[in-house]
Amino acid sequence: MNNQKIQGERCVLCDQEKKEGIHILEAFLCKECERELVKLEPEHPTYAEKIKKLRKLKSQRLLS
Ligand SMILES: [Zn+2]
Repeated sequence: MNNQKIQGERCVLCDQEKKEGIHILEAFLCKECERELVKLEPEHPTYAEKIKKLRKLKSQRLLS
């Protein structure tokens, strides 16, 4: 068992702390979610939804 605290960043999509990931629009996206996004076609409704979520998050930060 590993009791070490995960020193990662909170993913904006799955809301979990992950060590590996990328930054999109200043938001952290974990590897798993990134892979999921890449898999999706840009025309796919889920893709647009996730991008929208990222944008919304960014605008919330800008407003605060
Ligand atoms: Zn994630």
